[in-house]
Amino acid sequence: MSDTKLMQIPGHIDPVPVPRDVTPREDGRVDLIGLPKKRIAELFEVAGLDTKAAKLRAKQVFHWLYHRGVTDFAAMTDIAKTMRPWLAERFVIGRPEIVEAQHSTDGTRKWLLRTADGHDFEMVFIPDADRGTLCVSSQVGCTLNCRFCHTGTMRLVRNLTAGEIVGQVMLARDSLGEWPKSGQADLAALDDDLVDEDGGYSADGRLLTNIVMMGMGEPLYNFDNVRDALKLVMDGDGLALSKRRITLSTSGVVPQMERCAEEIGVNLAVSLHAVTKDVRDEIVPINKKYGIEELLQACADYKGASNARRITFEYVMLKDKNDSDEDAHELVRLIKHYKLPAKVNLIPFNPWPGAAYDCSTPERIKSFSNIVFEAGISAPVRTPRGRDIDAACGQLKTAAEKKSRAELERLYAEKEKALG
Ligand code: SAH
Ligand code: SF4
Repeated sequence: MSDTKLMQIPGHIDPVPVPRDVTPREDGRVDLIGLPKKRIAELFEVAGLDTKAAKLRAKQVFHWLYHRGVTDFAAMTDIAKTMRPWLAERFVIGRPEIVEAQHSTDGTRKWLLRTADGHDFEMVFIPDADRGTLCVSSQVGCTLNCRFCHTGTMRLVRNLTAGEIVGQVMLARDSLGEWPKSGQADLAALDDDLVDEDGGYSADGRLLTNIVMMGMGEPLYNFDNVRDALKLVMDGDGLALSKRRITLSTSGVVPQMERCAEEIGVNLAVSLHAVTKDVRDEIVPINKKYGIEELLQACADYKGASNARRITFEYVMLKDKNDSDEDAHELVRLIKHYKLPAKVNLIPFNPWPGAAYDCSTPERIKSFSNIVFEAGISAPVRTPRGRDIDAACGQLKTAAEKKSRAELERLYAEKEKALG
C-alpha cells in the first residue's frame, strides 16, 4: 500500500483528499471501457475516421463491449477485417486484473482485483435464492475512517475510474458466464419475458441481478466516476440493469446526496450506525461535519425515495456501543420524525484484527430488531455471508496485517485533518 501523502483538491464542493491520479498506460493506448458512446466516437474521429464513420463504428463497438462482453477487437465480426487491427493499435478493452478469486462454501465469491497501474481492491458476489448481488468498490481505500470498518484503516490510494467501476460488473459477468452466447439474439430481439419493465435484462434465470456500491470507498467522494459508471450499467444499450436494482451506500456526504438523486437516481442506503451525536461522532467521524439531523433531512429530501423505493438505513451492531433498547427507540423516533420511507438493515459487526469493538449478542440484536419491527419498520438482520473467505460486504480487504493502536490513531488523526 502506498504512503502517498493526502492532499486536497482545491475548489471542490467538499474537498476530497486524493493522493494520486491514474497513471496513463505506457503503450499510449486508450481504454474504451467506462467511456460514453459519444466520447468513443470523438476518439475515433481524432484517430482519423470521418464523423459519420466514427459514429457508426462507435455504435458497433459499444454494442460489442456492453452487450456481448467481448474483450478483443478481432471478435467484432461486423467490423471490417482491416479495421479491427487499426482499433487494436489505438485502443484496449480493459478489465481489472484478477489477482485472486475465492469461492465460499455458501456460494459467495470474492475477487481481489488490480488496476492497470498496480493498486489492489476487492469485489464480492453474494447469491441468494431470488437474486444475486454484486458488491462493487468505488475507491482504493477510503479517506473516511469509520472506526469499525477495515477499509477505514487504509490510506486512500486513489479513486477508481468509471472504467474500473463498470469493469467490475463486466468482470463478474465474464466470471459468471452471463454474456449472451455468440449467435444468440441480442437484447432487442430477446423474448419479451426476458426484458423487464424498464427495458433491461430480466432477473429471471440470471445470477447477477443487483448491484450495491458497498465495496471499498465512499462513492459520493468519487461522484463523477461513480455516476458515469452507473450510467453505463443502466443504459439500455449498455449493461441494461434497472436503476431499481442498484443501491448506492453513503456514510452521509450530505452535499452530494441531492445530486445523487438527480444525476444517478439509484436506490439510496445510508450508513447511520448510531442515533446520538456522541456515538456517531466516534464511529462514523464524518458526522462531525454533517450531523444526524442534517443527514436525515437530506434523506427526507431525497427525490426518488418512496414507499415503493425505501431508503435503507444500515446499522452495524456493536456491543455496548449502539445496541441498547433506547437506541432502537430513538432510531424509530428519528425515522418517524423525518417521515422517512425507511427500512433498517441490522448488520452484525464483522470483526477484523485490531478492531476496537465486538459484535452485539444475538439476543441483543433480536431485541433491537423487534423494537424497530414493532414500530412498523422492516428491520431484518443481515446474515453474514462468506465468512470463511473474509467476504463481508463493506469490509473488503484481504486479511491484512494488524496495525498497532498507536498506528491506527495516527492514521485516523491524519485523515480527520485532511477532511477539515
Ligand atoms: N462508504 C460507504 C460504502 C461502503 S461501506 C458507506 O460507508 O456506506 C458498506 C457498508 O458496510 C457500510 O454500511 C459500512 O458501515 C459497513 N461495514 C463496514 N465495515 C463493517 C464491519 N466490520 N462489519 C459490518 N459492517 C461493516
Ligand atoms: Fe469508508 Fe464506508 Fe468504511 Fe466508512 S464505512 S471507512 S465511509 S468504506
